[in-house]
Amino acid sequence: MSDTITLVNPATGRAFREIPRAGLAEVDAAIAGAVAAQRTWAALAPVARADALRSFARVVEAHVDELAALEVENSGHPIGSARWEASHVAQVLNYYAAAPERLIGQQIPVAGGLDVTFHEPYGVVGIIVPWNFPMTIASWGFAPALAAGNAVVLKPAELTPLTAVRLGELALEAGLPDGLFQVVTGSGSVVGQRFVSHPDVRKVVFTGSTEVGTDVAAGCARMLKPVTLELGGKSANIVFADADLERAAASAPGSVFDNAGQDCCARSRLLVERSVYDRFLELLEPAVQAWRVGDPASPDTDMGPLISASHRDTVAGFLDGADVAFRGAAPTGDGFWFAPTVVLASPGDRLAQDEVFGPVVAVLPFDDEADAIRLANDTIYGLAGSLWTENLGRAVRVARGVKSGVLSVNSHSSVRYATPFGGMKASGLGRELGPDAAEHFTETKNVFFATD
Ligand code: NAP
Ligand code: MG
Repeated sequence: MSDTITLVNPATGRAFREIPRAGLAEVDAAIAGAVAAQRTWAALAPVARADALRSFARVVEAHVDELAALEVENSGHPIGSARWEASHVAQVLNYYAAAPERLIGQQIPVAGGLDVTFHEPYGVVGIIVPWNFPMTIASWGFAPALAAGNAVVLKPAELTPLTAVRLGELALEAGLPDGLFQVVTGSGSVVGQRFVSHPDVRKVVFTGSTEVGTDVAAGCARMLKPVTLELGGKSANIVFADADLERAAASAPGSVFDNAGQDCCARSRLLVERSVYDRFLELLEPAVQAWRVGDPASPDTDMGPLISASHRDTVAGFLDGADVAFRGAAPTGDGFWFAPTVVLASPGDRLAQDEVFGPVVAVLPFDDEADAIRLANDTIYGLAGSLWTENLGRAVRVARGVKSGVLSVNSHSSVRYATPFGGMKASGLGRELGPDAAEHFTETKNVFFATD
């Protein structure tokens, strides 16, 4: 294995930078540094940790344009999305900056003394991040973990490390202690696995494929380490005949083609009530045609390229033998371009079951409410989903009936930093974001003080 990683701009296919590939000795040195820094950090007054995180948030906010430009070049994200992602990191830090002063334990009535609980940090937390949303997903781990008094070692994906590396530098610029938040670039099998096997990493947060996540969880089990998993998805967008069909159709492309479909929350199954199926496809076609695929540096672009040539081959493989209804446009030439594609599918089809992680949506008809819920749940995954109806009772029943961690009614929102995020079934274990995330990076300690 070479000792550097070559980064490729997915919009041009051209290599543009080399970054170091850490070996075991470097990972262990980073973890040792984190152990030392964590002791100092946890000993600070809660308000001092809060101030440091607010300062980190402000420094990130001042570098939104720079971080966004890095994401455009390294990941091919459209500049508008990349700016949103960088600002989101600042907001997540700002939100969890309130946590150090609010990690409130309990005082429990007992006989013969005083009983109180403390939320103790784990120590060092290892965070393993995929290539699809390098900045945001990293921040969902490191912001609450730091807020709870932990140190963090972060492994970005080999393909997309640049924004994570820059965030590590900005943490130092903001005044976070040396060693507290370290970004280690390298391969999953070396750096990621070391987070799993190293005894001083006391909790692991993994986002990525269900296959690797299962292996990481098994490794953590052997070390008796808690693990949070954010894995794949095959989320449903359910459109009932009584929905505002124009709005549902206009928003459907964004729900699955955003980030070129490389989104664990992509609504990659479009379930449409049979009585409006033809009408809905008529409305969907112009919306897909209007979806602008092109230069990620342009503010008018809705969707950039796929992340790599090999990923494009994988996505293209899903179209073998598929019943393509219509496609949008994409640039030709260099870069890993793939046109948004709408396919007609049956429930057992590979396209209706497997995560494509590309701009391909499978459309399936359903007969009634019970059929819609049954079809929506006909997958190993359970991450996100949307449902469109003007009937309030139905919205409540279907939202309760679909086994997914994050659902939205008459919208496609999945991520807000103030609300919990995560999957059921093969989509994951545990929740990130929301009011409780900092507590998830602590262990409860109970202390009894005898008074008699
Ligand atoms: P992946 O192959 O599972 O990789 C994810 C991360 O794990 C990368 O940093 C990777 O490092 C590392 N890794 C690989 N092998 C490892 C090992 N044996 N031990 C420890 N770490 C290891 O997933 P991906 O291809 O990057 O991302 C796509 C998948 O992520 C999709 O399935 C998608 O649904 C899922 N995803 C889920 C969420 C969610 O929140 N639920 C969010 C985003 C993505 P290297 O690649 O650098 O080797
Ligand atoms: Mg991979």
